[in-house]
Amino acid sequence: MPHPDLEKIHHDITAWYSANARDLPWRGPAADPWAVMVSEFMLQQTPVVRVRPVWESWMERWPTPAALAAEPVAEAVRAWGRLGYPRRALRLHAAAVVITDEHGGKVPGTEAELLALPGIGTYTAAAIACFAFKVPTVVVDTNIRRVHARLVSGRALPEQNQNAAELALAARLLPAAGPGDTVGTALANDWNIAVMELGALVCTARSPRCEDCPVLNQCAWIAAGRPEPHYKPKGQPWHGTDRQVRGAMMAVLRHSPGPVNREELLGAPDLAVVASKPRITVSARQGDPAHEAWVTLHALPALAEQRERALDSLLADGLAQQGATGIRLPR
Ligand code: SF4
Repeated sequence: MPHPDLEKIHHDITAWYSANARDLPWRGPAADPWAVMVSEFMLQQTPVVRVRPVWESWMERWPTPAALAAEPVAEAVRAWGRLGYPRRALRLHAAAVVITDEHGGKVPGTEAELLALPGIGTYTAAAIACFAFKVPTVVVDTNIRRVHARLVSGRALPEQNQNAAELALAARLLPAAGPGDTVGTALANDWNIAVMELGALVCTARSPRCEDCPVLNQCAWIAAGRPEPHYKPKGQPWHGTDRQVRGAMMAVLRHSPGPVNREELLGAPDLAVVASKPRITVSARQGDPAHEAWVTLHALPALAEQRERALDSLLADGLAQQGATGIRLPR
């Protein structure tokens, strides 16, 4: 037993969730497994507030895996917009193709089948199995790990990389649910989403709102006197990174109806010159997304070496393709 008050903790956190959960469209009764799966792909690296509008337009356009699979992958990358880490769009499209071809267009419901799909790792398989198919499995994401670390282990932060001990702790904390145990299964499902929500809304990374926490009196980190983290968390820099350059190049490609010249992507030429060249599909109009994308790319203080590296990595990742007339999104 990892905590003497485990039953009370289960009750207090799930009751808090019932009263405080955000009303998110991929959690509602109308959300089918595909809706949950799309949300899990998008939420892997991106906050809810940015995901929601993209998810809504995505589901309106592609309400089934077959609808997405029928479109060129470039459309998925375009619709991914500015969510970041656009390889997720490639993988979601690839998963939709496999689901359509091998699973009759239905998202499979076991973790093993989900794990076999492109782009789905241990966490995502568990999350889809739990949230879409009510499988009482162990779900462990960053928010859950942080709550477990504080509430049970008395540490300010979880380890930098998920380890076996954290997974074992999560398994011990999960409410028991044997075969046919509908009450235990429902509690296990509620527990996973409730702890995740607590980590997102209250037990946040930088400034936990412990005074609003339903398990303040059971929290090991509070009892230990709120010790400092045992390491200095690394930030995720953006400005000046290859990711920033890649993002700017992807924006140009997304907004270009045709191929783009490699040298123009790599250089920082005068925009008037760019716009005057017939092979460059850029509008000179202010407020035009294509024009804005070019302006942003060319304004980056990236050296030629970094621009080359960023473009090469986009080509290697399959997010861009070199054709006879220039570089474009994958087909
Ligand atoms: S009391 Fe504070 S640190 Fe402990 S679980 Fe609640 S929010 Fe997190």
